[in-house]
Order: sequence, then C-alpha cells, then structure tokens
Amino acid sequence: MDELLLLIVCSPSGAGKTTLTRRLLAELPELTFSVSHTTRGPRANEVQGKDYHFIPRETFEGMVARGEFAEWAEVHGNFYGTSSAEIARAKTEGKRGVVFDIDYQGARQIQAKFKEAVGVFILPPSLEELERRLRGRATDAEDVIRRRFAKALVEIEHYPLLDYLIVNDDIDRASGELRSVVRAELCRRWRMAPRAEALLRKKG
Ligand code: ADP
Ligand code: 5GP
Repeated sequence: MDELLLLIVCSPSGAGKTTLTRRLLAELPELTFSVSHTTRGPRANEVQGKDYHFIPRETFEGMVARGEFAEWAEVHGNFYGTSSAEIARAKTEGKRGVVFDIDYQGARQIQAKFKEAVGVFILPPSLEELERRLRGRATDAEDVIRRRFAKALVEIEHYPLLDYLIVNDDIDRASGELRSVVRAELCRRWRMAPRAEALLRKKG
C-alpha cells in the first residue's frame, strides 16, 4: 500500500473547508495541497496555480479526453478536476500527505481508485450560519450564493461517504480536530511499518 496519506476534505460550499485546509497546511508542512483545475473564473483573492489552475473549458475537455484526471466532476455549473500529476508531485516532493478539497462526486472517484484514501466531511453548525458564511465571503454574486446554498442539503446527504465528521463551529476547535485526524492517520501501523522493519533489519 502507498504510504502517502490521501486526505479528502468535503463540505457544502461555505462550511469552511478552504479555511480549515489552509490552516492545516500551514501547521503541517509535511502535507501538500492538491491544486485542482477548474473552468470557474478566479475570485478576487485567488492566485493562479496556487488556489486552482484556472483553465478554459476546451483545455479541460482536452485533459479529460487524454485521461489526465484522477477524478473530475461538474459542480455548481463549472468543471473541476484533480490531475494525476498533482498526486505524483506530492510523491516527488517527498510529502507525507496530499489534501484534496473536492466535492462528494470527486470523493467517490478517488475512493474507488485509492482504497486507503481518508475522507473528512465538514458540517456547518446550522443552515442559517452556512448562508451567513456564503454571504460573508462577499466574493460571489447573489445568484451564485443562492445556487450554492440550494445545493447544501444534497451535499450534506452524502456525508456517509466520508470517514470523519467535523462540525466547524469554532474555527480553532474544528482545525484542532482536523489536525488530530491527520496525526492519527499518519501513525497508522501499515504506514509506519517500514520504520519498524528498518530497525529490525539493523539488529539482525
Ligand atoms: P468553503 O471552502 O467550504 O466554501 P470557506 O473556507 O471559503 O468555505 O469559508 C466560507 C466563509 O466562512 C469565509 O468567509 C470564512 O472566513 C468563514 N468561516 C470559515 N470558518 C468559520 C468559522 N468557524 N466561524 C466563522 N466563520 C468562518
Ligand atoms: P469553489 O468554486 O467554491 O472553489 O468550489 C466549489 C466546489 O467544488 C467545492 O465543493 C470544492 O470542494 C469542489 N472542488 C474543487 N476542486 C475540485 C476538484 O478537483 N474535483 C471535484 N470533484 N470537486 C472540486
């Protein structure tokens, strides 16, 4: 089995997964973020190549045709995908884990390909708070906010696909829980077995 931790983080839009994954990556430099490709336009605060690879639809379709995505899906009217190259990059950079900020359709595809992938679902404390956060982000147009909020229950219905559930009420507590999940997963016996085996080989 591959020792690289494949961590899927899912939530309805606005629940806080971007905020939580950014914190996680700042705290644990042994992880890297899987930069997705998308046909959505960048928000004012987003950086090309860091938050997403923003690409035209034709380029996305070409990548699909060439089988370059480990998973891809249409979400809120745009295409999003994880290139296999992003997973390869994490390995060549010597990282211990890679974090995927993807929707439940992508989670399903990654889990089908990589049985050892670990999934975390982020819940908002309430639907009222979710709507407040979508508006508070102040980066999307009103119709985009409405469309995303309308889809929230469909996304929450898919929580059973993931292994862990974290309620993002207080950001410090929620990010502590996410960090704990990662730390525990990195200590799994099968992932750490080569360290034990190396000691045994030295003794013999
Ligand atoms: P997502 O990536 O799930 O769409 P974001 O991380 O962009 O969500 O968060 C949506 C908005 O909610 C942002 O303005 C963010 O600052 C805010 N937010 C995130 N977590 C919390 C929290 N625990 N309490 C209050 N506001 C939060
Ligand atoms: P946003 O437009 O707010 O950045 O993301 C919208 C939704 O698309 C979120 O649920 C996010 O997790 C999801 N998403 C982002 N990148 C990918 C990806 O590569 N694949 C899939 N399937 N979903 C993605």
